[in-house]
Amino acid sequence: MSKIVGIDLGTTNSLVAVIDSGIPYVIADTEGQRLTPSVVHYPGPDQEPVVGHKANRVRALKPAETVYSVKRFMGRRGSDIPREEMLVTYPVHGQGAGPVSVTIHGREWLPEEISAEILKKLKQVAETSLGEPVTRAVITVPAYFNDAQRNATIKAGELAGLKVERIVNEPTAAALAYGLDKLGERARVAVYDLGGGTFDLSILELNAGVFQVLATHGNTRLCGDDLDRRIVEFLADKVLEGGGPTVKENPMLIARLREVAEQAKIRLSSVTEASIQLPFLTPEFSFSLTLTRIELEKLTADIIEKTRTHCLRSLSDAKLEAKDLDQVILVGGQTRMPLVRRKVSEWFGCVEFTETRGDIRLGTEFHKTKGPALNTSQNPDEAVALGAAIQAEILSGGFKNLLLLDVTPLSLGIETFGGLMNVIIPRNSTIPIKAGEMFTTAVDRQKSMLIHVLQGERERSKDNWSLGRFDIEFEPAPKGVPRVGVQFEIDANGILHALARDIKTGHQKIVQMTSEVDVDDAEVQKMVEESVEHAFDDLRARQWIEAKVKAGTDLPATRKAMAEFLKDLDPDYKKQLDQAMEGVEEVLSTEDPKTKTGDPARLKAALKHLEEVTVPLAEHQLDQLLGAMATHPGSAAPTSTPPPTEHK
Ligand code: AMP
Repeated sequence: MSKIVGIDLGTTNSLVAVIDSGIPYVIADTEGQRLTPSVVHYPGPDQEPVVGHKANRVRALKPAETVYSVKRFMGRRGSDIPREEMLVTYPVHGQGAGPVSVTIHGREWLPEEISAEILKKLKQVAETSLGEPVTRAVITVPAYFNDAQRNATIKAGELAGLKVERIVNEPTAAALAYGLDKLGERARVAVYDLGGGTFDLSILELNAGVFQVLATHGNTRLCGDDLDRRIVEFLADKVLEGGGPTVKENPMLIARLREVAEQAKIRLSSVTEASIQLPFLTPEFSFSLTLTRIELEKLTADIIEKTRTHCLRSLSDAKLEAKDLDQVILVGGQTRMPLVRRKVSEWFGCVEFTETRGDIRLGTEFHKTKGPALNTSQNPDEAVALGAAIQAEILSGGFKNLLLLDVTPLSLGIETFGGLMNVIIPRNSTIPIKAGEMFTTAVDRQKSMLIHVLQGERERSKDNWSLGRFDIEFEPAPKGVPRVGVQFEIDANGILHALARDIKTGHQKIVQMTSEVDVDDAEVQKMVEESVEHAFDDLRARQWIEAKVKAGTDLPATRKAMAEFLKDLDPDYKKQLDQAMEGVEEVLSTEDPKTKTGDPARLKAALKHLEEVTVPLAEHQLDQLLGAMATHPGSAAPTSTPPPTEHK
C-alpha cells in the first residue's frame, strides 16, 4: 500500500506533508521550497502546463494564460459568482446554473482540471522525495465548503491520479497539528484561519486524544485576496490621480498592481513603511508611492472586522465564552498581519499578547486577568498540511490513540406540508452522522412524495437553500397510510447522501446531494443572522402553518363523522359542532394573503374548542368501530406519523 500524503490545496499556496517516525513534516521540492504557489500557466495550445513558482514568475507577464486563486471557482455555478470576483486577469466564464470555466488558447478548463495540475505537481514533489509512487491523499478544504465544492475537490484529486481518502476541514487539520504533542492535556481552542481565499473559525475540545469540533463558522469569500484587491483599487486611483492610465479592467495592469500590492502588504507585517515602485506602467508613465502600515490598516480594517461576527457566533454555538478557551490558534498566511493579531486578541480578550511595532510595545491594553493565549507558534502556512498528514496517518492505521470528530456547519432537513423546514440533522452535529424520520402523506391516493432537501437555519423552506429534489413512488393509499422513511447520512468528508424508503414495499432511492444553488458564504452568514432576527416571526409562521395543517385534517374528519352519524346526533349538539367548525374557518379566513400567516394563538384556541366539542362524537365513533371490530377482527386504525410531506 502506498503512503497516504496530506495535502493543503490552498487558494494562494499548496503544500504536501507526510509523517516520518511519528513526526509530521512538509515535503520540500528539489529547490528546497516547501510552498507551491497555486498558480498554473498554460504556455501554448499543446504544451504542458507550468505549475508553482515558475508559473508565478510569469503571472504578471502572461496574465491571460496564468490561472491563480482557482479554488474560489471550485464547485461554483456561473450565476453565483459576483462580478468583482470574475475580475481576474484570465478569462472566466459561467452562466446561470452552468459551471464556471476558464478559456485559454481556445480550450475550456474546469476549475477542478486546473486544481488537478497543482495536485499533480504536489504528487510529483512527494514521489521525488519519498522515492515511491504516491496514489492516495487526504486533502483539506475550508470548513464552509459545501457539497459541490467538496465533490469538485475529490474530482480534482482523481484527475491528478490520487484517490482522495478523506476530505478534512482546514481549521480542524490545524488543530490536529497543534494538539499532536499535547495529547495528555484537556484544552479548548479556537482556530482562527484567515488564508488567501477563505476564512474559517472553529472551536474544538481536545481531550485524551479526542479532537472534537464544537462549532464552526466561516466565509469562503473573506480573505487575503480581498485585502490585495482593496490595495489595488487604492493604487489604481492614485495612478489615475497622477496622470497615469486607467488600470481597472486592464488585465495586464491589474496583474502588475496586484503583484506589488501583495508584496507591500506582506512587507508591512514586519516594517512600518513600504515603497511601491511601478516603472514604465505604460511607456510614458512610471509610478511610485510609499504605503504605511497605518494607511494599510485604515484601508482594510473593515474586511478584518467582518471576521468578528464569525468568532462571536462560533462561541455562542459552542455555548462558550472567550474566557473558557485556553488558546486561540492563528492559521493562514494573512494572520501574520499585525492588525489581525491585535483585533483577534482584543475580541477574545487574550492574555499576554505583545506586539512590537518599531520600538513601541502594543498589546498591554488587551491584557486581561483571564482569557485565552494567542498562539502564533504554529507556522501559519504549514499547520493545515501537517494536520492533513496526521489524518492520513490515522487512516493508515497509525496514531491509534487519536480520534477526530468534526461537525456539519449548517442544518439539513426536508420540506414538509405547508412549506416548513423539518430539520433532520441540526447544524454543528458531529460527523459522520446518520439520522432519519418517518413521514406520511397529506392527501388521499397520493402516488409519490417529493423529497425536497434543504440546508439552512430558517423555519420556512423558502428562506433556506435548496440542495435538490427527488421523488419516491408508492402504491396509492388514503392519506396518512403510506410511510416513507427519510434518512440523511453525512459522511466523514462532509458530503450528504439522502435516502427515502417506502416502508411497505422496501422500495428506496439514495441520492448524493449537490447544491442546487451555490452556498454563498456571505449569504450563509446573512441567513444565520436573519434566523435570529426573524426568530419571532418565523416561529409564528411555523405555529400558524402547523395549526393550519391540523385544521386541514380536523375539519374534514369532523364533517365526515357528522355525516356518518347524522341520524344519531342531537340537533343542539349538531349546532355546537357547526359553530365550533365555523369558529375555525373564521380564523382561517383572516390569513394575510401576502405573508400567508395569521394569529396562531387564535387558531389553536379555535381548534382546541373544536376538539373539546367533538369528544362525544369521537367516543360514539369509537364505540361503533369497536363494535365493528368485534365482528371483523384484524382491521385497525392507521398509524400516526410526524407531519406529512408536500405531495406531488
Ligand atoms: P494561505 O492561503 O494560508 O497560504 O495564505 C495566503 C495569504 O496570506 C495571501 O493573501 C498572502 O498575501 C497572505 N500573507 C502571507 N504572508 C503574509 C504576511 N507576512 N503578512 C500579511 N499577509 C501575508
